[in-house]
Amino acid sequence: MKFAFCNAAVDLYANAVAVSSNETLDSGAINLGAQIYEDDFLRNRFHKVSDVSRWGNFDNFGADLSMSDNIVFSENPAAELQKFLDGKSYSKIAVLSDDNTIRYCYPVIQKGLPVHDVFQVASGEEHKNLDTCEVIWQKMTASEMDRHALLIIIGGGVLGDMGGFCAATYKRGIDFVLIPTTLLSQVDASIGGKLGIDFQHFKNHIGVFQTPVLTILHAGFLNTLPEAERRSGFAEVIKHALIADAPVWHEIKKHSLADQNWEMLLRHSVKVKLNVVRTDPYEKGLRKTLNAGHTIGHAVETYLLQESRKILHGEAIAVGLICEAFLAKENGMITPDDFEAIREYLLTVFGTVQLKSGEEDAIAKLTMQDKKNRGNKIMCVLLDGIGKARWDCEIRPDDVKRALAFYRSV
Ligand code: NAD
Repeated sequence: MKFAFCNAAVDLYANAVAVSSNETLDSGAINLGAQIYEDDFLRNRFHKVSDVSRWGNFDNFGADLSMSDNIVFSENPAAELQKFLDGKSYSKIAVLSDDNTIRYCYPVIQKGLPVHDVFQVASGEEHKNLDTCEVIWQKMTASEMDRHALLIIIGGGVLGDMGGFCAATYKRGIDFVLIPTTLLSQVDASIGGKLGIDFQHFKNHIGVFQTPVLTILHAGFLNTLPEAERRSGFAEVIKHALIADAPVWHEIKKHSLADQNWEMLLRHSVKVKLNVVRTDPYEKGLRKTLNAGHTIGHAVETYLLQESRKILHGEAIAVGLICEAFLAKENGMITPDDFEAIREYLLTVFGTVQLKSGEEDAIAKLTMQDKKNRGNKIMCVLLDGIGKARWDCEIRPDDVKRALAFYRSV
């Protein structure tokens, strides 16, 4: 079986993802400034650049962080905050934390702050909603924060998304600093400016795009993170390597979860995501590659949640990455050896999610509702070799079922 259509392929390893402003990203013609060739199988024109092998020297990779979106990596986040606040005249400063980050992370930044208020809300996705926003807006109002105030958000993706949303809408928007404290929020949620909350069981249904005035990334916060949360974020780190950087994938798979070089991987993952979101901020094309593993992964996550068998996001994405790699292998887009390496490593790190016989149908149905779909066509991201990905690959419910049946058999 060959896929009916894949819209575009891209090697994200290209240092300059040079899409000029008058090129439409969803046209399938992305100019990476390199060799152009015809792909008969996919009947689609795309451009390829050669892979460059390296590991350990992330400075050469992709986006230049020094000129990027006020993102800093720091071993001393308190000093970084102090430096940022020097010479600024915010009328009021408040810190937003949750019941875990107040205890584990706030003390690390506290000494870098002048007089400030501290707001605390309950942790957990179930609180990422309008009710909690109301609490936050009430606290901001009671603190008499005006339009020249600053909100510093210290927490995982839930707090970053929700606190950023509250700041971006309070009095039509005030400055906010993001200090992401989970692996997932450091490599994913804090990059790209998407803010928002869940609404009536729809995830991230209400939101805005807004960039923080500063984002501080501190690997030290990962030390207190529960292992399950670290593993969950690791799925996105692996995804970034698989879609963008073969050498990094080959290095990652030499090590267990406990034995990764987080400092390096943080930088690498952030650069991959930055490269993509800078090129395609509004997800017209390239940004869709970040959804690798998510078409089937989200469907599995949603299905198991409905069945009261909730799993962590990263565990679901690991299932999705295996299943979608299976489809890529079936179509000759990755080699059987590469597929086997992906399957084996992800199962070793994440274990096997238990799916019962017959559940493939319901999960396949859920992929029909994926927000990347066009009409009733399921549009998936598939690896095109390791380190490259194609978006808008049309797959069918039967493909999803076959991939899930394979997963159940491993
Ligand atoms: P989370 O924010 O719920 O954090 C997980 C748990 O870890 C929480 O209990 C939190 O209190 C705790 N915690 C946080 N930092 C800690 C630390 N350093 N030590 C100990 N405990 C700590 O979960 P998450 O995985 O970070 O984020 C998930 C959210 O991110 C979802 O709502 C998802 O929609 C969102 N997200 C957003 C984007 C985006 O582009 N905006 C991208 C991906 C995910």
